[in-house]
Amino acid sequence: MIHCLLRDLNFEKEIGANSLFLEVGPFHFVVDAGMDPKRIGSLALPQLSLLPENSVDAILLTHCHLDHLGGLPVLLRKQSKAHVFLSYPTSLVTPIMLENSYTVMCRQKEEQSIPEYPLYEKKDIERIKQNFLPVKFGQVQHLEKEGHCIDITFFLAGHVLGASSVLIEYEERKIFITGDILFQDQHTLKGADIPNDRHFDTIVLETTRGRTERQSHRVDEEERLLKTIAQTIQRGGMCLIPAFALGRIQELLVLLDNARRANKIPECPIFCSGLGMALVNVFNEIGKTTNAVHFNRKILKRLNIKSLRRKKIGPDSQLTTPAIYLLSSGMLVEHTPSYRVASNLIKDCKNTVCFVGYCDPDTPGGQLLQTAPDEVFTFKALEFSTPLRAQVEHFDLSGHADREDLCRFVVDHQPKQVILTHGDVEARQWFSEKFSKDCPHMRVLDPEVGKTYTI
Ligand SMILES: [Zn+2]
Ligand SMILES: [Zn+2]
Repeated sequence: MIHCLLRDLNFEKEIGANSLFLEVGPFHFVVDAGMDPKRIGSLALPQLSLLPENSVDAILLTHCHLDHLGGLPVLLRKQSKAHVFLSYPTSLVTPIMLENSYTVMCRQKEEQSIPEYPLYEKKDIERIKQNFLPVKFGQVQHLEKEGHCIDITFFLAGHVLGASSVLIEYEERKIFITGDILFQDQHTLKGADIPNDRHFDTIVLETTRGRTERQSHRVDEEERLLKTIAQTIQRGGMCLIPAFALGRIQELLVLLDNARRANKIPECPIFCSGLGMALVNVFNEIGKTTNAVHFNRKILKRLNIKSLRRKKIGPDSQLTTPAIYLLSSGMLVEHTPSYRVASNLIKDCKNTVCFVGYCDPDTPGGQLLQTAPDEVFTFKALEFSTPLRAQVEHFDLSGHADREDLCRFVVDHQPKQVILTHGDVEARQWFSEKFSKDCPHMRVLDPEVGKTYTI
Protein backbone atom coordinates (compact mmCIF):
# COMPACT_ATOMS: atom_id res chain seq x y z
CA MET A 1 0.00 0.00 0.00
CA ILE A 2 1.39 3.41 -0.97
CA HIS A 3 1.14 5.89 1.82
CA CYS A 4 -1.09 8.82 0.65
CA LEU A 5 -2.53 11.59 2.80
CA LEU A 6 -4.74 14.57 2.04
CA ARG A 7 -5.64 17.63 4.05
CA ASP A 8 -7.82 20.54 2.96
CA LEU A 9 -6.11 23.71 4.19
CA ASN A 10 -9.13 25.93 3.67
CA PHE A 11 -10.77 27.56 6.69
CA GLU A 12 -14.26 26.33 5.90
CA LYS A 13 -16.03 23.98 3.53
CA GLU A 14 -16.54 26.57 0.81
CA ILE A 15 -14.88 27.91 -2.32
CA GLY A 16 -12.83 30.26 -0.16
CA ALA A 17 -9.04 30.11 -0.29
CA ASN A 18 -8.38 26.95 -2.20
CA SER A 19 -5.41 24.88 -0.98
CA LEU A 20 -4.78 21.17 -0.55
CA PHE A 21 -1.90 19.35 1.09
CA LEU A 22 -1.08 16.00 -0.50
CA GLU A 23 1.44 13.46 0.67
CA VAL A 24 2.20 10.78 -1.92
CA GLY A 25 4.84 8.34 -0.70
CA PRO A 26 7.78 10.51 0.41
CA PHE A 27 6.61 13.52 -1.64
CA HIS A 28 4.85 16.49 -0.06
CA PHE A 29 2.77 18.70 -2.35
CA VAL A 30 0.58 21.73 -1.95
CA VAL A 31 -2.00 22.20 -4.69
CA ASP A 32 -2.84 25.94 -4.99
CA ALA A 33 -2.64 28.57 -2.26
CA GLY A 34 -5.58 30.93 -2.66
CA MET A 35 -6.96 33.98 -1.02
CA ASP A 36 -10.62 34.29 -0.05
CA PRO A 37 -12.13 37.50 -1.51
CA LYS A 38 -14.76 37.58 1.27
CA ARG A 39 -12.30 37.53 4.17
CA ILE A 40 -9.91 40.12 5.44
CA GLY A 41 -6.30 39.97 6.63
CA SER A 42 -4.51 36.69 7.27
CA LEU A 43 -7.90 34.97 7.70
CA ALA A 44 -8.26 35.29 3.92
CA LEU A 45 -5.41 32.79 3.51
CA PRO A 46 -5.46 29.00 3.83
CA GLN A 47 -4.15 27.45 7.08
CA LEU A 48 -0.54 27.56 5.91
CA SER A 49 0.81 27.40 9.46
CA LEU A 50 -0.19 23.70 9.51
CA LEU A 51 2.78 23.08 7.23
CA PRO A 52 6.19 22.81 8.93
CA GLU A 53 8.87 25.09 7.49
CA ASN A 54 10.53 23.74 4.32
CA SER A 55 8.42 20.57 4.40
CA VAL A 56 6.88 21.03 0.94
CA ASP A 57 8.69 19.57 -2.08
CA ALA A 58 6.58 21.14 -4.78
CA ILE A 59 3.61 23.42 -5.25
CA LEU A 60 1.25 22.60 -8.09
CA LEU A 61 -0.49 25.77 -9.23
CA THR A 62 -3.57 24.96 -11.30
CA HIS A 63 -4.37 28.53 -12.42
CA CYS A 64 -4.26 32.23 -11.66
CA HIS A 65 -7.60 33.10 -10.11
CA LEU A 66 -6.90 34.67 -6.76
CA ASP A 67 -8.84 32.02 -4.87
CA HIS A 68 -6.07 29.62 -6.02
CA LEU A 69 -3.08 31.95 -6.23
CA GLY A 70 -3.43 34.86 -3.80
CA GLY A 71 -1.56 33.20 -0.89
CA LEU A 72 1.37 31.87 -2.93
CA PRO A 73 3.96 34.51 -1.86
CA VAL A 74 3.09 33.86 1.80
CA LEU A 75 3.31 30.09 1.35
CA LEU A 76 6.70 30.39 -0.33
CA ARG A 77 8.08 32.47 2.50
CA LYS A 78 8.25 29.33 4.67
CA GLN A 79 8.62 26.89 1.80
CA SER A 80 11.31 28.72 -0.09
CA LYS A 81 12.87 25.54 -1.50
CA ALA A 82 9.64 24.29 -3.10
CA HIS A 83 9.41 24.41 -6.88
CA VAL A 84 6.18 25.79 -8.30
CA PHE A 85 4.94 23.70 -11.21
CA LEU A 86 2.63 25.74 -13.43
CA SER A 87 1.70 26.11 -17.08
CA TYR A 88 3.55 28.65 -19.20
CA PRO A 89 0.55 31.03 -19.53
CA THR A 90 0.01 30.82 -15.77
CA SER A 91 3.65 31.79 -15.21
CA LEU A 92 3.07 34.95 -17.27
CA VAL A 93 -0.23 35.93 -15.64
CA THR A 94 0.76 35.15 -12.03
CA PRO A 95 2.90 38.28 -11.42
CA ILE A 96 0.19 40.53 -12.93
CA MET A 97 -2.51 39.05 -10.69
CA LEU A 98 -0.32 39.22 -7.59
CA GLU A 99 0.69 42.83 -8.26
CA ASN A 100 -2.94 43.78 -8.63
CA SER A 101 -3.80 41.98 -5.42
CA TYR A 102 -0.91 43.79 -3.69
CA THR A 103 -2.27 47.17 -4.87
CA VAL A 104 -5.77 46.25 -3.66
CA MET A 105 -4.38 45.24 -0.24
CA CYS A 106 -2.48 48.54 0.06
CA ARG A 107 -5.71 50.40 -0.69
CA GLN A 108 -7.69 48.29 1.77
CA LYS A 109 -5.06 48.95 4.43
CA GLU A 110 -5.89 52.67 4.18
CA GLU A 111 -9.61 52.52 3.50
CA GLN A 112 -10.51 49.80 5.98
CA SER A 113 -7.58 50.16 8.42
CA ILE A 114 -6.23 46.63 8.12
CA PRO A 115 -2.76 46.78 9.70
CA GLU A 116 -1.70 43.32 8.39
CA TYR A 117 -2.00 44.42 4.75
CA PRO A 118 -0.27 43.98 2.40
CA LEU A 119 0.40 40.32 3.26
CA TYR A 120 3.54 40.41 1.07
CA GLU A 121 5.77 42.98 -0.57
CA LYS A 122 6.35 43.73 -4.24
CA LYS A 123 9.85 42.28 -4.04
CA ASP A 124 8.34 38.94 -2.91
CA ILE A 125 6.54 38.72 -6.27
CA GLU A 126 9.87 39.12 -8.09
CA ARG A 127 11.57 36.62 -5.79
CA ILE A 128 9.05 33.80 -6.13
CA LYS A 129 9.49 33.78 -9.92
CA GLN A 130 12.77 31.95 -9.25
CA ASN A 131 10.76 29.00 -7.91
CA PHE A 132 8.66 28.71 -11.07
CA LEU A 133 9.00 25.65 -13.30
CA PRO A 134 6.71 26.26 -16.30
CA VAL A 135 5.57 22.96 -17.84
CA LYS A 136 4.05 22.06 -21.19
CA PHE A 137 0.62 20.48 -21.32
CA GLY A 138 0.85 16.71 -21.70
CA GLN A 139 4.58 16.56 -20.95
CA VAL A 140 5.59 14.30 -18.04
CA GLN A 141 7.77 15.88 -15.34
CA HIS A 142 9.88 13.60 -13.16
CA LEU A 143 10.61 14.53 -9.58
CA GLU A 144 13.08 12.63 -7.41
CA LYS A 145 13.45 12.34 -3.65
CA GLU A 146 15.28 9.85 -1.45
CA GLY A 147 15.73 7.50 -4.41
CA HIS A 148 12.02 7.62 -5.29
CA CYS A 149 10.59 9.05 -8.50
CA ILE A 150 7.18 10.59 -9.13
CA ASP A 151 5.61 11.79 -12.38
CA ILE A 152 3.55 14.94 -12.74
CA THR A 153 1.64 15.85 -15.89
CA PHE A 154 -0.36 19.02 -16.55
CA PHE A 155 -3.37 18.90 -18.88
CA LEU A 156 -5.31 21.75 -20.46
CA ALA A 157 -8.38 22.39 -18.26
CA GLY A 158 -10.28 25.07 -20.23
CA HIS A 159 -11.78 27.33 -17.53
CA VAL A 160 -9.35 30.23 -17.88
CA LEU A 161 -6.07 31.09 -19.63
CA GLY A 162 -3.40 28.60 -18.48
CA ALA A 163 -5.79 26.55 -16.32
CA SER A 164 -4.54 23.03 -15.73
CA SER A 165 -5.61 19.70 -14.39
CA VAL A 166 -2.79 17.71 -12.82
CA LEU A 167 -2.04 13.99 -12.84
CA ILE A 168 0.29 12.60 -10.16
CA GLU A 169 1.62 9.10 -10.83
CA TYR A 170 3.58 7.23 -8.21
CA GLU A 171 4.09 3.46 -8.45
CA GLU A 172 0.55 2.08 -8.89
CA ARG A 173 -1.17 5.29 -7.73
CA LYS A 174 -2.73 7.68 -10.25
CA ILE A 175 -4.26 10.76 -8.66
CA PHE A 176 -6.00 13.23 -10.95
CA ILE A 177 -6.80 16.76 -9.77
CA THR A 178 -9.32 18.51 -12.01
CA GLY A 179 -8.58 22.07 -10.80
CA ASP A 180 -11.24 24.46 -12.03
CA ILE A 181 -12.30 22.87 -15.30
CA LEU A 182 -14.51 23.50 -18.32
CA PHE A 183 -14.94 20.90 -21.03
CA GLN A 184 -16.56 23.11 -23.67
CA ASP A 185 -14.65 25.52 -25.92
CA GLN A 186 -15.10 29.22 -25.23
CA HIS A 187 -14.62 32.06 -27.75
CA THR A 188 -11.08 32.67 -26.53
CA LEU A 189 -10.04 29.28 -25.16
CA LYS A 190 -10.18 25.61 -26.01
CA GLY A 191 -11.99 23.35 -23.59
CA ALA A 192 -10.28 20.78 -21.34
CA ASP A 193 -8.12 18.21 -23.09
CA ILE A 194 -7.90 15.13 -20.86
CA PRO A 195 -7.06 11.87 -22.65
CA ASN A 196 -10.00 9.47 -22.37
CA ASP A 197 -7.87 6.36 -22.18
CA ARG A 198 -6.14 7.31 -18.93
CA HIS A 199 -6.99 5.45 -15.77
CA PHE A 200 -7.17 7.33 -12.47
CA ASP A 201 -7.66 5.59 -9.11
CA THR A 202 -8.49 8.91 -7.45
CA ILE A 203 -10.13 12.06 -8.79
CA VAL A 204 -9.98 15.28 -6.79
CA LEU A 205 -13.03 17.08 -8.13
CA GLU A 206 -13.97 20.76 -8.14
CA THR A 207 -17.65 21.15 -7.23
CA THR A 208 -18.32 24.87 -7.79
CA ARG A 209 -21.55 24.37 -9.71
CA GLY A 210 -22.99 21.50 -7.68
CA ARG A 211 -25.92 23.59 -6.50
CA THR A 212 -27.19 24.55 -9.92
CA GLU A 213 -28.86 22.43 -12.51
CA ARG A 214 -28.05 23.26 -16.13
CA GLN A 215 -30.90 25.48 -17.30
CA SER A 216 -29.91 26.34 -20.83
CA HIS A 217 -27.09 26.15 -23.33
CA ARG A 218 -24.25 28.63 -23.48
CA VAL A 219 -25.15 29.92 -26.98
CA ASP A 220 -28.73 30.64 -25.88
CA GLU A 221 -27.48 32.45 -22.80
CA GLU A 222 -25.16 34.55 -24.95
CA GLU A 223 -28.05 35.51 -27.21
CA ARG A 224 -30.20 36.44 -24.20
CA LEU A 225 -27.34 38.58 -22.84
CA LEU A 226 -26.91 40.40 -26.16
CA LYS A 227 -30.66 41.05 -26.35
CA THR A 228 -30.67 42.46 -22.81
CA ILE A 229 -27.72 44.73 -23.61
CA ALA A 230 -29.40 45.95 -26.83
CA GLN A 231 -32.67 46.71 -25.03
CA THR A 232 -30.87 48.61 -22.26
CA ILE A 233 -28.90 50.75 -24.71
CA GLN A 234 -31.99 51.38 -26.86
CA ARG A 235 -33.89 52.75 -23.85
CA GLY A 236 -30.95 55.05 -23.06
CA GLY A 237 -29.67 53.07 -20.08
CA MET A 238 -26.34 51.90 -18.73
CA CYS A 239 -25.52 48.23 -18.81
CA LEU A 240 -23.09 46.97 -16.18
CA ILE A 241 -21.47 43.59 -16.77
CA PRO A 242 -19.45 42.65 -13.66
CA ALA A 243 -16.82 40.15 -14.79
CA PHE A 244 -13.57 38.56 -13.63
CA ALA A 245 -10.62 40.47 -15.11
CA LEU A 246 -8.90 37.22 -16.03
CA GLY A 247 -10.75 35.37 -18.76
CA ARG A 248 -14.30 36.61 -18.51
CA ILE A 249 -13.55 40.16 -19.70
CA GLN A 250 -11.57 38.95 -22.73
CA GLU A 251 -14.29 36.40 -23.52
CA LEU A 252 -16.98 39.09 -23.38
CA LEU A 253 -14.92 41.45 -25.54
CA VAL A 254 -14.92 38.81 -28.28
CA LEU A 255 -18.65 38.23 -27.82
CA LEU A 256 -19.36 41.98 -28.05
CA ASP A 257 -17.10 42.32 -31.09
CA ASN A 258 -18.89 39.51 -32.91
CA ALA A 259 -22.26 40.96 -31.91
CA ARG A 260 -21.36 44.47 -33.07
CA ARG A 261 -20.25 43.13 -36.43
CA ALA A 262 -23.52 41.25 -36.76
CA ASN A 263 -25.47 44.40 -35.78
CA LYS A 264 -26.88 42.71 -32.69
CA ILE A 265 -25.97 45.55 -30.33
CA PRO A 266 -26.22 49.29 -31.07
CA GLU A 267 -23.22 51.65 -31.21
CA CYS A 268 -22.36 53.02 -27.77
CA PRO A 269 -19.23 53.57 -25.65
CA ILE A 270 -17.81 50.50 -23.91
CA PHE A 271 -15.82 51.03 -20.72
CA CYS A 272 -13.41 48.44 -19.40
CA SER A 273 -11.40 48.29 -16.16
CA GLY A 274 -7.61 48.39 -15.81
CA LEU A 275 -6.63 44.84 -14.90
CA GLY A 276 -8.83 43.29 -17.59
CA MET A 277 -7.09 45.53 -20.12
CA ALA A 278 -3.60 44.61 -18.86
CA LEU A 279 -4.44 40.94 -19.26
CA VAL A 280 -5.63 41.53 -22.80
CA ASN A 281 -1.96 41.96 -23.77
CA VAL A 282 -1.04 38.57 -22.29
CA PHE A 283 -3.93 36.93 -24.16
CA ASN A 284 -2.71 38.60 -27.32
CA GLU A 285 0.90 37.42 -26.83
CA ILE A 286 -0.01 33.84 -25.95
CA GLY A 287 -2.54 33.75 -28.79
CA LYS A 288 0.44 34.11 -31.17
CA THR A 289 2.13 30.96 -29.85
CA THR A 290 -0.69 28.44 -29.42
CA ASN A 291 -3.94 27.51 -31.10
CA ALA A 292 -5.54 26.88 -27.69
CA VAL A 293 -5.98 30.66 -27.26
CA HIS A 294 -7.89 32.82 -29.73
CA PHE A 295 -7.55 36.50 -29.07
CA ASN A 296 -6.26 39.51 -30.96
CA ARG A 297 -6.02 42.90 -29.32
CA LYS A 298 -7.20 44.58 -32.53
CA ILE A 299 -10.73 44.12 -31.26
CA LEU A 300 -10.11 46.83 -28.65
CA LYS A 301 -9.75 49.33 -31.48
CA ARG A 302 -12.71 47.98 -33.38
CA LEU A 303 -14.89 48.27 -30.28
CA ASN A 304 -13.30 51.62 -29.33
CA ILE A 305 -12.86 50.47 -25.73
CA LYS A 306 -12.41 53.25 -23.20
CA SER A 307 -10.78 52.76 -19.84
CA LEU A 308 -12.66 53.92 -16.79
CA ARG A 309 -10.32 56.52 -15.35
CA ARG A 310 -12.25 58.01 -12.51
CA LYS A 311 -11.22 56.08 -9.46
CA LYS A 312 -13.70 57.57 -7.06
CA ILE A 313 -16.90 56.76 -8.90
CA GLY A 314 -19.80 56.64 -6.49
CA PRO A 315 -23.56 56.94 -6.20
CA ASP A 316 -23.69 60.57 -7.38
CA SER A 317 -21.11 60.56 -10.20
CA GLN A 318 -22.17 61.58 -13.69
CA LEU A 319 -21.52 58.52 -15.82
CA THR A 320 -21.70 58.33 -19.60
CA THR A 321 -25.05 56.98 -20.74
CA PRO A 322 -26.07 55.00 -22.70
CA ALA A 323 -23.00 52.82 -22.36
CA ILE A 324 -21.72 49.35 -21.56
CA TYR A 325 -19.54 48.98 -18.46
CA LEU A 326 -17.53 45.76 -18.58
CA LEU A 327 -15.76 45.83 -15.22
CA SER A 328 -14.20 43.66 -12.55
CA SER A 329 -14.99 42.25 -10.06
CA GLY A 330 -17.45 39.62 -11.20
CA MET A 331 -19.05 39.37 -7.76
CA LEU A 332 -19.22 43.13 -7.09
CA VAL A 333 -16.63 42.84 -4.35
CA GLU A 334 -16.55 46.08 -2.32
CA HIS A 335 -14.47 49.00 -3.65
CA THR A 336 -13.95 47.43 -7.08
CA PRO A 337 -14.97 49.33 -10.25
CA SER A 338 -18.08 47.15 -10.75
CA TYR A 339 -19.18 47.79 -7.13
CA ARG A 340 -18.81 51.54 -7.54
CA VAL A 341 -20.61 51.68 -10.87
CA ALA A 342 -23.41 49.48 -9.48
CA SER A 343 -23.92 51.98 -6.67
CA ASN A 344 -24.51 54.59 -9.34
CA LEU A 345 -26.89 52.77 -11.62
CA ILE A 346 -29.20 50.45 -9.68
CA LYS A 347 -31.48 53.32 -8.67
CA ASP A 348 -32.71 53.86 -12.25
CA CYS A 349 -35.06 51.49 -14.06
CA LYS A 350 -33.48 52.27 -17.45
CA ASN A 351 -30.30 50.49 -16.35
CA THR A 352 -29.35 46.81 -16.16
CA VAL A 353 -26.83 44.72 -14.23
CA CYS A 354 -25.88 41.54 -16.10
CA PHE A 355 -24.06 38.95 -14.00
CA VAL A 356 -22.20 36.47 -16.19
CA GLY A 357 -20.48 34.12 -13.77
CA TYR A 358 -20.68 32.48 -10.40
CA CYS A 359 -21.58 34.83 -7.52
CA ASP A 360 -20.96 33.69 -3.97
CA PRO A 361 -24.22 34.34 -2.04
CA ASP A 362 -22.32 36.31 0.64
CA THR A 363 -20.70 38.79 -1.76
CA PRO A 364 -22.48 42.05 -2.73
CA GLY A 365 -23.14 40.50 -6.16
CA GLY A 366 -24.77 37.44 -4.61
CA GLN A 367 -26.82 39.69 -2.33
CA LEU A 368 -27.95 41.92 -5.19
CA LEU A 369 -29.15 38.82 -7.04
CA GLN A 370 -31.29 37.95 -4.01
CA THR A 371 -32.77 41.48 -3.77
CA ALA A 372 -36.36 41.89 -5.00
CA PRO A 373 -37.32 44.85 -7.25
CA ASP A 374 -37.91 48.04 -5.19
CA GLU A 375 -36.35 46.46 -2.10
CA VAL A 376 -33.64 48.62 -0.50
CA PHE A 377 -30.06 47.56 -1.24
CA THR A 378 -27.14 48.86 0.81
CA PHE A 379 -23.62 49.49 -0.48
CA LYS A 380 -21.99 49.16 2.94
CA ALA A 381 -18.52 50.29 1.90
CA LEU A 382 -20.00 53.50 0.48
CA GLU A 383 -22.58 53.93 3.26
CA PHE A 384 -25.25 54.30 0.61
CA SER A 385 -28.70 52.69 0.33
CA THR A 386 -31.17 52.83 -2.53
CA PRO A 387 -34.25 50.92 -3.68
CA LEU A 388 -33.35 48.52 -6.48
CA ARG A 389 -35.01 49.88 -9.63
CA ALA A 390 -32.61 48.57 -12.31
CA GLN A 391 -33.11 45.26 -14.07
CA VAL A 392 -30.83 42.55 -12.61
CA GLU A 393 -30.15 39.45 -14.69
CA HIS A 394 -27.96 36.39 -14.33
CA PHE A 395 -26.57 34.60 -17.38
CA ASP A 396 -25.08 31.16 -17.22
CA LEU A 397 -21.74 31.78 -18.97
CA SER A 398 -19.66 30.23 -16.22
CA GLY A 399 -16.10 29.09 -16.85
CA HIS A 400 -16.80 26.00 -14.73
CA ALA A 401 -18.14 22.70 -16.00
CA ASP A 402 -21.72 22.11 -14.93
CA ARG A 403 -22.43 19.32 -12.51
CA GLU A 404 -23.79 16.98 -15.17
CA ASP A 405 -20.50 17.17 -17.14
CA LEU A 406 -18.41 16.63 -14.01
CA CYS A 407 -20.47 13.57 -13.07
CA ARG A 408 -20.06 12.13 -16.53
CA PHE A 409 -16.32 12.69 -16.34
CA VAL A 410 -16.09 10.77 -13.06
CA VAL A 411 -18.41 7.97 -14.16
CA ASP A 412 -16.44 7.56 -17.42
CA HIS A 413 -13.15 7.17 -15.54
CA GLN A 414 -14.48 4.83 -12.84
CA PRO A 415 -11.99 5.80 -10.13
CA LYS A 416 -11.90 3.95 -6.81
CA GLN A 417 -12.46 7.21 -4.98
CA VAL A 418 -13.50 10.78 -5.63
CA ILE A 419 -12.56 13.64 -3.34
CA LEU A 420 -14.79 16.71 -3.32
CA THR A 421 -13.19 20.15 -3.15
CA HIS A 422 -13.84 23.77 -4.02
CA GLY A 423 -17.58 24.05 -3.49
CA ASP A 424 -20.00 25.06 -0.80
CA VAL A 425 -21.74 22.54 1.46
CA GLU A 426 -24.86 22.11 -0.69
CA ALA A 427 -22.78 21.71 -3.84
CA ARG A 428 -20.75 18.89 -2.30
CA GLN A 429 -23.89 17.29 -0.89
CA TRP A 430 -25.41 17.09 -4.36
CA PHE A 431 -22.32 15.28 -5.68
CA SER A 432 -22.16 12.96 -2.66
CA GLU A 433 -25.76 11.88 -3.13
CA LYS A 434 -25.45 11.56 -6.90
CA PHE A 435 -22.31 9.41 -6.70
CA SER A 436 -23.60 7.16 -3.94
CA LYS A 437 -26.54 6.41 -6.25
CA ASP A 438 -24.69 6.16 -9.59
CA CYS A 439 -21.37 4.66 -8.39
CA PRO A 440 -22.19 2.76 -5.16
CA HIS A 441 -18.77 1.09 -5.00
CA MET A 442 -16.79 4.30 -5.25
CA ARG A 443 -15.52 5.96 -2.07
CA VAL A 444 -16.75 9.57 -1.90
CA LEU A 445 -14.70 11.72 0.44
CA ASP A 446 -15.93 15.18 1.38
CA PRO A 447 -13.03 16.16 3.63
CA GLU A 448 -13.48 18.26 6.76
CA VAL A 449 -11.11 21.19 6.68
CA GLY A 450 -7.81 20.80 8.52
CA LYS A 451 -8.34 17.06 9.02
CA THR A 452 -5.90 14.53 7.57
CA TYR A 453 -7.25 11.60 5.56
CA THR A 454 -5.60 8.51 4.13
CA ILE A 455 -6.56 8.34 0.49
ZN1 LIG B 1 -10.86 29.61 -11.25
ZN1 LIG C 1 -11.65 28.53 -8.27
